[in-house]
Amino acid sequence: MNTYTPPSPAEEDRIIEEAYQDVLRAYIASNHRKKVEIIERAFRFAKEAHRGVRRRSGEPYILHPIAVAKIVISELGLGSTSICAAFLHDVVEDTEFTLDDIRNAFGPKIAEIVDGLTKISGGIFGDRSSMQAENFKKLLLSMSNDIRVVLIKIADRLHNMRTLGSMRPEKQFKIAGETLYIYAPLAHRLGLFKIKLELEDLAFRYEHPQKYAEIMEKLSEGADHREEIVEKFVGPVRKKLDEAGFKYEIKARVKSAYSIFNKMRNKNIPFEEIYDVYAVRVIFENDDDALEHIKCWQIYTFFSEGHRLHPDRLRDWISTPKANGYRALHLTAMGPEGKWIEVQIRSRKMDEIAELGYAAHWKYKSGVSEEESELDAWMNTIKDILAHPEPNAIDFLDTIKLNLFASEIYVFTPKGDLVTLPAGATVLDLAFAIHTHLGIHCIAGKINHRLVPLSHKLDSGDQVEIITSDSQSPQPEWLEFCKSAKAQTRIRSLLRKDERQLTARGKTIFKELMESEGIEPSNEFITKVLANYQLKTREELYLMLANDEINLSAKELTDIRSRRSSMWKRLLRNPFSLRKKNSPKKHPPVNRKETYILHPDDKQPNFITAPCCTPIPGDDVLGFVEEDESVVVHKVSCQEAMRLKSAYGPRLLAVEWGKGSDSFLATISIDGIDRLGILEELVATISQRLGINIRSLNIEATHEVFHCKLTALVDNADTVEEICVALLKIKGIKFAQRIS
Ligand code: MN
Repeated sequence: MNTYTPPSPAEEDRIIEEAYQDVLRAYIASNHRKKVEIIERAFRFAKEAHRGVRRRSGEPYILHPIAVAKIVISELGLGSTSICAAFLHDVVEDTEFTLDDIRNAFGPKIAEIVDGLTKISGGIFGDRSSMQAENFKKLLLSMSNDIRVVLIKIADRLHNMRTLGSMRPEKQFKIAGETLYIYAPLAHRLGLFKIKLELEDLAFRYEHPQKYAEIMEKLSEGADHREEIVEKFVGPVRKKLDEAGFKYEIKARVKSAYSIFNKMRNKNIPFEEIYDVYAVRVIFENDDDALEHIKCWQIYTFFSEGHRLHPDRLRDWISTPKANGYRALHLTAMGPEGKWIEVQIRSRKMDEIAELGYAAHWKYKSGVSEEESELDAWMNTIKDILAHPEPNAIDFLDTIKLNLFASEIYVFTPKGDLVTLPAGATVLDLAFAIHTHLGIHCIAGKINHRLVPLSHKLDSGDQVEIITSDSQSPQPEWLEFCKSAKAQTRIRSLLRKDERQLTARGKTIFKELMESEGIEPSNEFITKVLANYQLKTREELYLMLANDEINLSAKELTDIRSRRSSMWKRLLRNPFSLRKKNSPKKHPPVNRKETYILHPDDKQPNFITAPCCTPIPGDDVLGFVEEDESVVVHKVSCQEAMRLKSAYGPRLLAVEWGKGSDSFLATISIDGIDRLGILEELVATISQRLGINIRSLNIEATHEVFHCKLTALVDNADTVEEICVALLKIKGIKFAQRIS
C-alpha cells in the first residue's frame, strides 16, 4: 500500500535536512569527541548518492540511512565512525559508488565497516539454505572482526521493522521470521534488551496483528489502575531511600506484548491471570564502584522490610553477571491487591550496560574487564564453531541458534573453576567445554560424590568431576542430550571422521573385489551396482560394505554385470526420463505476491493443511509453496513454519481464512484433580452449555489425577479457546489446551 504523497521538492529537502540535524544534535549532546566535519561529509555523500531514489513507502531513500544513524547514536550510543558507516551503509549496495570511493573519502576503518554491512545485505537468508548459512557465517565473522558491523546491522533491521507496514505481506512474514529467528536472539546476546524487546514486539505485531491489538488494548485499559498499584507499592520504599540519602529514579514498566502473548500461549491462561505484568525498576546514582554491590543489597532490604518476597524469584546477577554483561538484582514482592511485582535494582552504570549492552562497554572500558572477558568467551565459541564447519547448512544454523537462545547455568570444576553452559546442559557438555579430549573419553560424572550418567542434566552451582575411560569414543546418540553448540559441533565432526575412515575402508574392499573378479570398475558398472541396492552415491555403497551391511558375492557381481545395459544407458543420458513419467502433475502456479483466501467450505485442491500444526479457521496462517506448486498451510506460530520462514522466504505465501460454515476436529488436552461428578460437569459444559458436538473422549486416571483427551467438532479456533476457558472454570480442572 502506497499512501505517501510527496510534498514539494523544497519541502522534502527541508524534511531531510531536519532529520539530519536531529542526528547531529543527538551526537553533540553525547559525550563523544566532536568530529562533526566527517559526519557532515558522510551525510552529504550519502544524500548525493541516493538522490532521486525512493523507498517502497514512497519516501526519499536517504531518510532510511538517516534513521539508522539516529538509532546508532541515540539508542546504541555509538560514535562518529559508526554514524558515518550508518549513513553510508547502503551506498555500495544500491548506488554506483564503490568501496574504493568510500575508502578514499573516509579512510579504511569506515570502508571496512561498510564492506562488512554490504556483504551481509539482502537478508541473512537467501533462497537456499546453503546461502543462508553462508551469509550468516559472514555476519558472525564480521562480528568477531568489528562488533560495530553487527550493531549497525541491528539498527538497520530495527528501522526496517519499524517501517515494515509498507511491505507486501509475504515479505513481512519473511522479514519478521528472520527477525525472531536471528536478530532478536543476537540483540539479546549482545545485551541490547530494549532493542530485542522492540524487535520481538514488532515481529509479533505483523505475525499476529489481531492478538497484538487485543493485548495492547488491554494494557492501555488498565494503565491508570496499574499506576495506582505501583505507587502504593513503592511509596514506603521511596521514604527509606530518601532517608538513606540515595539519589535515584523509580520507573514502572509493563511487560512487552510479545512476552505476554508467549506466556498466555505457553501456560494457556487469559491476560488477566498474568501476574507479572507489573514491574518496577530502581536506578540509583553511584560514584564509588566499591559500594555498588552493597547499595544494591541495601535497597533490597528496603523492599523486604515492608513486603512479602517471593522465595523462588531472587536473581543475583551482580555476583555472577550474565554472559552478555548484564548485572542487576531482581526480586519479586507481593504488592497491593495480592499482585506480584517484579523489582529490578541497578546502579546507573548497570542500567546503561543493560540497555546498551556491548555498546556501553566503550563508555566504561576501565571497570568492566570481567564482563568483557565473558563476552570474549562467547565470541570465541562462535569462532570455534566456524573453525569446524558443518557441511549441512541447517545443522549449522541450528547449532548456532542453540548458542543464541540458551540462557545459562554456572557449574564448577573440582578445582573450583567456573564454567558457563547453556541451561539444560549435561555432564557431557561440561566435559567438552573443558577439553575436547575429556569429552571424547567421558563415561560418567561425579556430583557430590554421587556417580551420574553422561546425560545427567546439571544445575547451577553443581561441582562436577568428569570420569573418563580410554576405550570410550563418541556415539551418535550423544547428539540427543548435548545442549551446547561446542559439544554438538565436536561430536558431529568426530562422527564424520569415523564415517570417512569407514568409507575409505569400504572403497578398498570394493576395489579388491573387482580385481579378484577381473571386473573393470567402469562408471556404467558401478551405476548398475548402485541401482541393484537402490543407493544414490558410491559413498553409501562403500559405507555399507565396510559395515558388512551388504555382501557382494562373486555370483551377484556376475549377475549384475550381465544385466541389459540399454536401460541404464538411457538413464545415464537422461536421468529424469523415468522419474518424470511417474511424478504427479504440477498444479497451476500460484502468484506469490497475492494474498490467498482459504475457503473452509469448498476444498481447494492445491491447498493442504500442514499435519504438524493442523491449522483451522481462526488461526493465523501462512502458506509455503512446494516444488509442485501445491501450498502447505501452517500456523504462523508453528515451529516448522518458523524454520521454513527463515530458510525459504521466497516460497512463502500470504494466506487468510475466508468465511465458512464447515466444522473441524480439534483435540483438547485436559488435566485435573478427580472428584465425584467432575466428568458429568465437563461433558455438560461442552455439549449443553456451549452446544458443541463431542466426537471422542479418552480418560486416564492415576490416583487423584486424571488426563483427558477430548475431540470436538468446532467451527474455528476461537470456539476452541472458548471451550478451554469454560473448562478451566470447572472446579478441579487445572489445564485445558488445544493440542491439534
Ligand atoms: Mn539499510
